[in-house]
Amino acid sequence: MAQKFRKIGVLTSGGDAPGMSAAVRAVTRAANARGVQVMGIIGGYRGMIHDEMIELTNREVSNKIMLSGTFLYSDRCLEFKEEEGMQKAIATLKKHDIDGVIAIGGDGTFRGATDLSVRGIPTIGVPGTIDNDITASDNTIGFDTAMTTVIENVDRLRDTCESHARLNVVEVMGRGAGDITLNTAIASGAVAAVIPEAPFDEEACINKVIRLRREGKRGFLIIVSEAFPTLGEELAKKITAITKDLAEKEGNDRLWVESKFCRLAHTVRGGSPTLSDRLLATKMGVRAVDELLAGNSDLIVVERAGEITTCGIRWSQVLDRMYKGTLKPGMTDEYTAEQLAEMEAFIAEKKETFRKTYAMLNELAD
Ligand code: ADP
Repeated sequence: MAQKFRKIGVLTSGGDAPGMSAAVRAVTRAANARGVQVMGIIGGYRGMIHDEMIELTNREVSNKIMLSGTFLYSDRCLEFKEEEGMQKAIATLKKHDIDGVIAIGGDGTFRGATDLSVRGIPTIGVPGTIDNDITASDNTIGFDTAMTTVIENVDRLRDTCESHARLNVVEVMGRGAGDITLNTAIASGAVAAVIPEAPFDEEACINKVIRLRREGKRGFLIIVSEAFPTLGEELAKKITAITKDLAEKEGNDRLWVESKFCRLAHTVRGGSPTLSDRLLATKMGVRAVDELLAGNSDLIVVERAGEITTCGIRWSQVLDRMYKGTLKPGMTDEYTAEQLAEMEAFIAEKKETFRKTYAMLNELAD
């Protein structure tokens, strides 16, 4: 018979993402509706180690659905990675009679969730990260809001680029994943996106800018992923210098494409969650409670083709590595040939979708 849950804990950990608060609210309301008490663990795994938590009643989570950041706060806690820290965390959970945990965060947070699961604390992960870098899920909480924030800002840069016939290179967050960069490049009408998933032909990009300027294009935008921390600023300088030389050589001022650089940095993490992120956070939060109370553990909630479903944390980690090409020997030994084929097909489809989207950007950027 499935374990009877009386009290569960919920935390947000790792990089914050708009919609994390909406997910905590959903977890709280869903659990309370099923007669299960909820403790909000403050500051991720750090709060678990140092016994910092508050009871989350339905009233406590009122007026939280539209908050940005996370009202439970987030932290990176190295102590939790050590056995001693983890044992302290487990002792805190036992002291409060917490029977299970819902951990909202990214891949690091899920590693922590597995560590709890294998030590007898049922734990379910919910993907909350602006980067959309959980391969097993089409969407993560905060991704849509981050992209919306990017295009709001880039639209403002576009206004001034058009007035002054300038180019703006904009660097956006996303860690090792180019999802934010590529999608916002398309949605903001940029001429190029520089992403980790595809090689960047700088010369072709500069030649395109020059050709388009000759054809009369005034404003230009290029979106660059933070995975290339110096590229954006250098590219802006290079385009400015190359087109200045060209303008002087041809005696045509209009060929000069003055180029500026802008790093949106952490602005991308803030702001009230969009409708999509509030819905995703709510559906995922409720599903996480359902899974935990059904006796499941060491899973994450994911979205696939618009449906909320689950997969094993280990499965998700192997998919991440397959996607990035960083699998190490032995990592897939536990899976059957059929399971591996399923994973490989999933990755191939995801990569093909990404490739097509990138090709579409390049075709339309003219
Ligand atoms: P994210 O969840 O956004 O990927 P981090 O990688 O910083 O963010 O991880 C968040 C937290 O999860 C860490 O500060 C740590 O407390 C915990 N964590 C990360 N990796 C591990 C691990 N290998 N084992 C146990 N806990 C981990």
